Amino acid sequence: MSLRLYNTLSREKETFVPHKAGRVGMYVCGPTTYDYIHLGNARPLVVFDTVRRYLEYVGYEVAYVQNFTDIDDKIINRAKEIGEDPIAMAARFVEEYHRDAKALNVRPATVHPKVSNHMAEIIAMIRGLEEKGHAYAMDGDVYFSIPSFKDYGKLSGRSLEDLQAGARVDVNERKRHPMDFALWKGAKPGEPSWGSPWGQGRPGWHIECSAMSRKYLGDTFDIHGGGQDLIFPHHENEVAQSEACTGVAPMARYWLHNGFITVNQEKMSKSLGNFFTLREILKKFPGDVIRFYLLSTHYRSPIDFDDGKLEAAQKGLQRLRTSRRLLAETLGDGGKADTARPPELREKLAEQWLALKNGFREAMDDDFNTALALSMLFDLAREVNTFLHGAYGLTPEDRTLLQQVGEGFDELAGVLGVDLAEGAAAADDGAVDGLMNLLIGIRAEARKKKDWAMADRIRDGLKELGIVIEDTPQGARWKKS
Ligand SMILES: [Zn+2]
Repeated sequence: MSLRLYNTLSREKETFVPHKAGRVGMYVCGPTTYDYIHLGNARPLVVFDTVRRYLEYVGYEVAYVQNFTDIDDKIINRAKEIGEDPIAMAARFVEEYHRDAKALNVRPATVHPKVSNHMAEIIAMIRGLEEKGHAYAMDGDVYFSIPSFKDYGKLSGRSLEDLQAGARVDVNERKRHPMDFALWKGAKPGEPSWGSPWGQGRPGWHIECSAMSRKYLGDTFDIHGGGQDLIFPHHENEVAQSEACTGVAPMARYWLHNGFITVNQEKMSKSLGNFFTLREILKKFPGDVIRFYLLSTHYRSPIDFDDGKLEAAQKGLQRLRTSRRLLAETLGDGGKADTARPPELREKLAEQWLALKNGFREAMDDDFNTALALSMLFDLAREVNTFLHGAYGLTPEDRTLLQQVGEGFDELAGVLGVDLAEGAAAADDGAVDGLMNLLIGIRAEARKKKDWAMADRIRDGLKELGIVIEDTPQGARWKKS
């Protein structure tokens, strides 16, 4: 078994071979921090966090770099609108971003470089391009000369002629070629700027990622990721800048791009105004449900946003958690009954467990097929439920198997960043669990004293809050309905 992934550069699935054995360098374009992120921005976060978790799970040491674009026209304009300093406002949204990432159980990257802290590297790279004849200065701006890089278009699969035919007529007469793009922009009054060989100014968007990926991962690294909307021009320009500057190709060996989130088949984006911020969605659904929902579709396929599918994801995740909890409870009380299970039940569960262990790896090795991996977790949950059904005791063999299955369940769900502990994210601070146990205890006492009115009041009151109490031979349990 080996990992195969779809490489945008070759437009086919390739076997993954890292540049240095046992290590993976991965760069993913992070957000431009001028607002809260929307669901479309949250998808690459979850997708590449899962890619990273899986690479680590199979034994790679992963250096994961995700940048923040904290200097940009959008930032400057927004800051002007709200009367805040652009750098301070961007820093504030970086903090908000970390909060959102945490809600989605996305681990912090190894490094989160910010553009504002990497001006020296950016300027050095532009100087390098200038010296090699790939860039030219014009009235305080510096442009990348596209005709100087013969491989331009190789990532997006378009030729320079195609691109020119489709390009809008560019009124900027300072550029030698209409497709040339800015590496450095001369300062305008009232904007943040930095000193450079070309005067005060600030970098263009594309050069930032070339400079920061090079600094942390070198001239060639393994995986470069981002949303499909970044393939052109952003990633195409990154390739041109990096490879023209270093003379080393490829800049990244594998290019991975996640699909869009659409609303009524239209791409969710800030500019179209058809977006939901993650914060809005987090008011209705816990972060782990949103993560589960995003992973239920293969990362390259589009997802059409739909509340109903989020609800289905919530129910699905709850089903897995219920099975996991029943399994733990059975192990805990030792299966009180004396009758042993028919051995076929154990054999079937053992079989399903083995199928999952192998199948999960196969699914993830096939270009990170999280949708298939999740469906296998459901198959196992069903088998666990069948096994636990009925009043049987546990033989030592049953116990060993259940322990393995329980640990395996947690481990594989963990690779997807899903925590199967009941109420893991729903209870932000763990207080909900404590409160529920307290209420269940009070209700049990009321029932003992035959105070049915009190017991019913607790049950009905919780029902109104969407919490159901189930009475079982092992005592009362609660779940969200
Ligand atoms: Zn980038």
